[in-house]
Amino acid sequence: MDATQWSEESKRSYLYCGHSYSQSDRYCDIHYSCIRCASPAVFTAADQKRSFEVKKNYIWQRRDLCPACHAQWVQLKAKDRACQARWTAERLTLKHDASFMGDWLQVLEALPSYDRRKHSSMKTHLRKLLEQPSQGTKLLAPAPTQTDAHHPPSPVSR
Ligand SMILES: [Zn+2]
Repeated sequence: MDATQWSEESKRSYLYCGHSYSQSDRYCDIHYSCIRCASPAVFTAADQKRSFEVKKNYIWQRRDLCPACHAQWVQLKAKDRACQARWTAERLTLKHDASFMGDWLQVLEALPSYDRRKHSSMKTHLRKLLEQPSQGTKLLAPAPTQTDAHHPPSPVSR
């Protein structure tokens, strides 16, 4: 390994933890089980070198997804980011776009099994918006009870 290629934060942390690095230090394959599908996976020495020295990831960063789940997670994250960006730009329109919100909600519901984060605030918000009838096609009031089921629907006063 070539620790001179690490991020500054990684270098500091490594020394702080009582290690000193030398040219003879090597990365070792790290075996782990995927937190999502439980299949065995390896964070290889070559992958670590690329991750810490080229991508400048933090040296204590470990993998917890297998390559297949990781690839899916990357796609989901990208989709989530794209939705977030569109939402920031066109919230007023998208608030009435049930298919956009439904798609995004699916992404947010899938993410926790990959990254163990809840993503809950946006999920709650989207669910609320999706439950709301759009443009008064449905009544906001609770469903009519048995006794007034035959009454004509009252005019929407919104
Ligand atoms: Zn997996």
